[in-house]
Amino acid sequence: MDLLQNLQNIRNSLPEDVTLVAVSKTKPVAMVEALFNGGQIDFGENKVQELLEKQPQLPSQIRWHMIGHLQSNKVKYIAPFVHMIHGVDSLKLLRVINKEGEKNNRIINCLLQLHIASEETKFGLSEQELMDIILAGEWKEMQFVNIRGLMGMATFTDDSEVVGREFRNLKRIFDNVRSDHLKDKADFTVLSMGMSADYKTAIEEGSTMIRVGSLIFGPRKSL
Ligand SMILES: *Cc1c(COP(=O)(O)O)cnc(C)c1O
Repeated sequence: MDLLQNLQNIRNSLPEDVTLVAVSKTKPVAMVEALFNGGQIDFGENKVQELLEKQPQLPSQIRWHMIGHLQSNKVKYIAPFVHMIHGVDSLKLLRVINKEGEKNNRIINCLLQLHIASEETKFGLSEQELMDIILAGEWKEMQFVNIRGLMGMATFTDDSEVVGREFRNLKRIFDNVRSDHLKDKADFTVLSMGMSADYKTAIEEGSTMIRVGSLIFGPRKSL
């Protein structure tokens, strides 16, 4: 398996305005370093512990994306360096991120996670809960949080129609929020959707950021 070739193959298939986050969870730092040397800057991890182990061993230019579910009490550990938090699913979490951002004097990029899949196990806000957060407006006062867009995960299924429908729904919500409530927020531009199995569908449906692991790094050992 050739890591850099995998990376290049995916890059070549992406429209210019789509950002690739290489998801390095369970994979060794040597692989991350090889990809970084090949020009990849954005990397994603889904566990705070693993992120904290890897980050100090790797170049500081790497932009680390926290893509998994994040507990409030762990924000403080990643606030000093994290580039973007994808899984923000409550106002409470947003407040904690703001507080920890302030302590570190850093503005932390956040994506609000929507629950778009039919599985109940996946995290995320309902459309109504998203609207409640946006309309309440408290986020506008948060000087150390920047809401850059939305994130979502489709149902784990081979049925590309189901996946396509879910991504289309997320894109609709994204467009509506933007045009109805965030017209003046020029940097609300990120729609994080699509993984190894469904990133092509996601791009067709308007994704601007894909999170790809196994297609670059090879399969992970199942737990
Ligand atoms: C693991 C993970 C990915 C990448 O999964 P692959 O199928 O390996 O591409 C993307 N997003 C999240 C939130 C993940 O946890």
